[in-house]
Amino acid sequence: MEKKLGWHELKNVVSTSYRCGYCGESIASDKGYIGSWPNHPGVQAWILICHRCTRPTFIDDDNVQYPGSLFGDSVKDVSDVSVDRIYAEARRAYSASAYTGSVLCCRKLLMHIAVAKGAKAGDSFASYVEFYAIIILCLPMLRDGGIISGQKVMKRITRSIWRLKKKQRN
Ligand SMILES: [Zn+2]
Repeated sequence: MEKKLGWHELKNVVSTSYRCGYCGESIASDKGYIGSWPNHPGVQAWILICHRCTRPTFIDDDNVQYPGSLFGDSVKDVSDVSVDRIYAEARRAYSASAYTGSVLCCRKLLMHIAVAKGAKAGDSFASYVEFYAIIILCLPMLRDGGIISGQKVMKRITRSIWRLKKKQRN
């Protein structure tokens, strides 16, 4: 059974909807604490308590949430514990605006998955990218009974980039 925090002297506050940065659930909390600056009447900030995981979220006077909601979606049934942890760290880093840390986690994730799929451990990052190009772009062509040609690979890469750009525009 998951442990739940008990909060002392918890107050009723205006119900506020947000996506919890700890458990990832979209909730509306009406329990927490209010804050105001000296000589400025009224509420300027909140600490809201998630009723699911009981963790606190701070919402500042610019309505910015800390920790931010986790970026991306969770992935169920990941059998490799280290892959699961690295992915979770990448999501948390992104949510904390630590983009460089998130990118480094994603690179590490890519290397872990490549090794799990048969790439040689300890190779360069570039070799893992090449591995993906072969596994993801070329093998399906072989599976479909096609012949791999440079033109076919470039066509597939161009199509993938075009799809990615289209997704980014939407
Ligand atoms: Zn939560």
